[in-house]
Amino acid sequence: RPQDVHNLNDIVLEYLNSIEHGERLARYPDISVQTRLQKNIHNVYCSPANIHKLLLNLIGNGIEAVGKEGCITITTGNCLFVHPELANEGRNHGLEHVRLTIADNGPGISEKDADRIFDPFYTTKIMGKSGSGLGLSIVWNIVQQHGGWIELKNNRPGAVFEIYLPATNDPL
Ligand code: ADP
Ligand code: MG
Repeated sequence: RPQDVHNLNDIVLEYLNSIEHGERLARYPDISVQTRLQKNIHNVYCSPANIHKLLLNLIGNGIEAVGKEGCITITTGNCLFVHPELANEGRNHGLEHVRLTIADNGPGISEKDADRIFDPFYTTKIMGKSGSGLGLSIVWNIVQQHGGWIELKNNRPGAVFEIYLPATNDPL
């Protein structure tokens, strides 16, 4: 697990201000990326480079999904969260986490696909040409490395990916 302590808002803004993101978005003038970042979120232990990679893949999927005049919204906030593995062990008291949400207003993801999207090489795009099917499996691995959790929350219209990362114990 990463040892460095960071604020996810800073990492999100850093990514959105990066040349890589700017150049990619410049090719899609009708797509907007909005943020709703909660002030005073807890810090998390994380690798900024890997969170950038996660954002690159999730925002990239959003851009590919929305088509014209699309909108992608990135949200952060504190929340109490019970990791599903702990819930299985009968522990149901939520632990302090930071939630990072990436939502788009594209067509969403069908139930049939939803079960498989995190599998390596699963793509509904043209394999090798427009899709590799690796993006979400990379995202999944990054979230696991951080001791976090990701789920496709609700969709149609639009896909919503929610990521929960454990907060540090530092006071706000
Ligand atoms: P790829 O983008 O190369 O196809 P991913 O692992 O990034 O591979 O995504 C797997 C599949 O999940 C995509 O092919 C697509 O069907 C679906 N998907 C992922 N993100 C979205 C999204 N935001 N909206 C609609 N479908 C999505
Ligand atoms: Mg992808």
